[in-house]
Amino acid sequence: MKRRQFIHSALAAVPAVAFPRFVSAAESVATPADVEALSLQGKEILLKGADVRDLAARLRGELMLRDSAGYDGARKIWNGAFDRHPALIVRPSGAADVMEAVKFAASNQLLLSVRGGGHSLSGQSVCEKGMMIDLSPMNSARVDPKRRIASIEGGALLGALDREALAHGLATTAGTVSHTGVGGLTLGGGFGRLARHFGLACDNVRAIDLVTADGKFLTASEQENKELFWGLRGGGGNFGIATSFDFQLHPVDPIMLGGDLVYSFEDAPKVLEFYFGFAETQPDELNIDVSLVRLPNDKRFLALDICYSGPVAAGEKAIAPLRAIRKPIEDSVKPTPYVELQKSSDVATAHGHKFYIKAGFLQKTTSALIDDIVATIASAHLPVINAVSLPQGGGAIARVKAGATAFAQRAAPHNMFVMSRWDDPAVTEEAGNWTRNAWKKLEPHTHGFYVNEFNDDSSRMRETYGPNYDRMVALKTKYDAGNLFRLNPNVPPKVAKA
Ligand SMILES: Cc1cc2nc3c(=O)[nH]c(=O)nc-3n(C[C@H](O)[C@H](O)[C@H](O)COP(=O)(O)OP(=O)(O)OC[C@H]3O[C@@H](n4cnc5c(N)ncnc54)[C@H](O)[C@@H]3O)c2cc1C
Repeated sequence: MKRRQFIHSALAAVPAVAFPRFVSAAESVATPADVEALSLQGKEILLKGADVRDLAARLRGELMLRDSAGYDGARKIWNGAFDRHPALIVRPSGAADVMEAVKFAASNQLLLSVRGGGHSLSGQSVCEKGMMIDLSPMNSARVDPKRRIASIEGGALLGALDREALAHGLATTAGTVSHTGVGGLTLGGGFGRLARHFGLACDNVRAIDLVTADGKFLTASEQENKELFWGLRGGGGNFGIATSFDFQLHPVDPIMLGGDLVYSFEDAPKVLEFYFGFAETQPDELNIDVSLVRLPNDKRFLALDICYSGPVAAGEKAIAPLRAIRKPIEDSVKPTPYVELQKSSDVATAHGHKFYIKAGFLQKTTSALIDDIVATIASAHLPVINAVSLPQGGGAIARVKAGATAFAQRAAPHNMFVMSRWDDPAVTEEAGNWTRNAWKKLEPHTHGFYVNEFNDDSSRMRETYGPNYDRMVALKTKYDAGNLFRLNPNVPPKVAKA
C-alpha cells in the first residue's frame, strides 16, 4: 500500500468523536462584563462585554482588560509621572490587528492612545479609560543590505534598527537612547548623532505603512499617497498608526569617535561662548549635544556629547579646539563602536523616573542666551535632577527646505529643553513649578518647539509648523475628520465631527 493511501485508511478507521469539536475563535474567548470607558469627547460610556469578546476573538494578538495578567506592566510608559489605566489594551501582532482595533475605537467613539516605544514625555501614549494600542509586540527589524533599506515595524526600538543595520556596515539617523521607539521619534522628526550627516530620521524614510482612522491600510511614499507622506514626516501621530517604516541606510564606519567632554560649572560660560561659535563652522560629520546639569547633591557641570561619524583621525583634529578651551574634568571621547555610543545614555535615562520638560527651537545663539542658561542651572535647588540641553541642528537637517516635509524648523541651530527628573511624588509640584519658571526666562530665545518634546501647551502649534500648518490641517481633515488620533501634539481637523 502506498504511504498516502495508508494514512487515509488509518484516519477513516478513527471514530469522529476522537477529534475535538471545532470551536470558533469567538466561542473560545470568555465574555467579560460590560466595560466602563471614556469616549473621545470625555463622556463615560459602557462597552458591551459581547463586543469586547468579539474584538478579542478577531485579534491574532492580545486584548487586555484591567484584571488581565500583565495589564499593569503593559500600561506603564517611560515617564513615571503618568499612572493611567486604559479600559482596554490591544497588543497587536500585525497590521490586521491594528485595523481591527482602530475600527473598534472609531465605531465606539472610544478615546484612543497609541504606544510605540513608550517614551512620550507628555504621557500621551497611555490614556485613562480609553483604548491603548500598544505596538510593542510589533518590533521586527529587517535589513536588505543590497538595497540599503531597513524595514522596521511600528513598535520597534531604536536599538533594533541600529543593531541590524550596523551588522552590514550601514546606519541611518536614530535618537541618542536605544530604548526610544522608532515610531514616535520618526513621525515627529528624529534628531540624533547622525542627523547633521544624513538628515533627520524622517528625512531618511522611504515608505510608511499606515492604518488610518477608518481602519484602512495604505502605504505612503513619494510614489503613492504623496501628500500624506509629506505630512507623516514631522506630523507626529496625527494621521494614523504607522505599522512599518522603510528607511534609507548609509555606509558608515562602525567605529566612530565619540564620548563626553565634561567641564566644571565655573567654566560653563566660557565653554558655551566658544562652543556656539565653533558649532556653526563644523562639518556635517560632527554632532555635539550640550547639557548643563545640576544633581540633587548640588553638583553642577557642563557636558558635550560628541560623535564624529567620519574617519577617526579627522574627528580628533576637529574636536581638538574643544579640549583646549578649558581642561575637561572628564574626557571619555575615544574611538567607540557606534552601537555602544547609542547605548551610552540608556542607564541614565532608564524607565520609570518622573520627568517634566519644556522645549523650543533656538533661532540664534547670543550672550544673553548663555547668561540665561547658566543662571537657570545656578538657580536649581530641589532634590531632583535639572538640566538644560541643546541638541545640535544644522548640516543636512538645514539643507532640506522647510516646506519639503511637515517638519518646518529646519533653520534652528539648536533645539533646547529644560527638564526636571525626580522619583519622590512629594516633590512633583515643586519640580514642575521650577521647570515652568525656568522656561519663562528661556522661552523668549525660541521659536516653535520640537513636537516630540511636547508637554502640555498646544498654544505654539501654528508657530511650530509655520507655513506648513494649513497644509497639515487640510491633511488632518481629509484623513481624520473626527480627530480619532488626538492624543498627540494635535493639529485639529477643520470640521471635527463631534
Ligand atoms: C530618554 C529619551 C531620549 C530621547 N532622545 C531623543 C533623541 O535623541 N532624538 C529625538 O529626536 N527625540 C528624542 N526623544 C524624544 C522622542 O522622540 C519622543 O519621546 C518620541 O515620542 C518617542 O517615541 P516612542 O515611540 O518611544 O514614544 P511613545 O510614547 O510610544 O509614543 C509617543 C507618541 O508617538 C506617536 N506614535 C508612536 N508610535 C507610533 C506609531 N507607530 N504610529 C503612529 N503614532 C505613533 C503617538 O502619538 C504617541 O502618543 C527622547 C525621549 C526620551 C524619553
